[in-house]
Amino acid sequence: MKVWINSNTKEVSIKTAEKIKQSLLNAGIEIDQKNPDLAISVGGDGTFLKTFHEYSDQLATTRFLGVHTGHLGFYADWRDFEVDELIEALIHDTKQSITYPILDVEVTYADDSVEKIKALNEAIIKRTSKTMRADVILDNEFFEKFRGDGLCFSTPSGSTAYAKSIGGAVIHPKSHVMQMNEIAPINNRVYRSISAPIIAPSSQAIEILLAPEDDYMVNYDTNSKIDCSLKSVKFQLSNESIQFAQLRDRHFWGRVEHAFLGTNDFI
Ligand code: NAP
Repeated sequence: MKVWINSNTKEVSIKTAEKIKQSLLNAGIEIDQKNPDLAISVGGDGTFLKTFHEYSDQLATTRFLGVHTGHLGFYADWRDFEVDELIEALIHDTKQSITYPILDVEVTYADDSVEKIKALNEAIIKRTSKTMRADVILDNEFFEKFRGDGLCFSTPSGSTAYAKSIGGAVIHPKSHVMQMNEIAPINNRVYRSISAPIIAPSSQAIEILLAPEDDYMVNYDTNSKIDCSLKSVKFQLSNESIQFAQLRDRHFWGRVEHAFLGTNDFI
C-alpha cells in the first residue's frame, strides 16, 4: 500500500502528520505523493476538502481518511490522539471502503467554453454585486425564475456544511441525492421561486440559465472562481464517488448530534 499524508500548517497537524509518516515507514508502508492508494488528511474538514481536490482526478484508485487536530469532524473522523490505533488499523487494513456521492458541475462561459468541476460539499453560484437572475431548468423543463443572492447545490455529506446554514435538510450520505437551496430569494410578480430546498435523485440534472453578466462567482468547497462571464451552469450527482478507508464504523447521526447538539454521549 502507498500512502500520502497531507496536513494544514498548524503545528499540531504538522507534528501529527510526521508521527503518522514515521510510524507507517517503520511498519514498512510506502509513502508516495503522486499516486497514493490512501490519502490521509491531517487538520479539519477544510483540510480534507483540499486533499480531496488534490486527488480528485484519481478517485477510482485513491481512498481517503481524515485525522482531525481540533474537534471531531465530518470527513476527518479520527482524532490526533488516536494515531497509534490508526496505524494498527492500517497495518491490518482489509481495503474495505465506504463511498459517498460527489457533485459534477459543468460551467459554460459566455464564449461557449466549458469547464468541468467536481465538488465534495457543494457548489454555489452568486454574483459579486447585485442580485442574480436565472431560469432554473429541472430535467430539461423550465421550473422557476429565480432572483436572489444565489443558488447552492450540495451533496449529502455537504448538507451539514453551508447548505445547513441556509436552511437545508441534513441528509445521510448513503442517500444518492443532490440538494438545491435558494439563497435569499426575492418573490414578486416577475420572479417566483419555490423558496424551499429541492432534493433531486442522481438521475436528474438541474441547469441554471443565467442573465448575461460578467461578475458571477462559482464557489466549490474551499475554491472560488470570481468575476466570470457565464451563460449556464449544470449540476448533477456524479457517476464517480469518494471512497473512505473503512477502518471502523462511521456513525453519521452520532457525528451530527456531537457537532450541532452535544447534548448526550451518542458517540
Ligand atoms: P472555512 O471557514 O474553512 O470552514 C467553515 C466551517 O465549515 C469549518 O468549521 C469546517 O470544519 C466546516 N465544514 C466543512 N465541511 C463540512 C461538512 N461537510 N460538514 C460540517 N461542517 C463542515 O470555509 P471555507 O474553507 O471557505 O469552505 C469550506 C467549507 O465550509 C465549504 O464547503 C462550506 O460548506 C463551508 N462554509 C460554511 C459557511 C456557513 O455555514 N455559513 C460559510 C463558508 C463556508 P473544520 O473546522 O473541521 O475545517
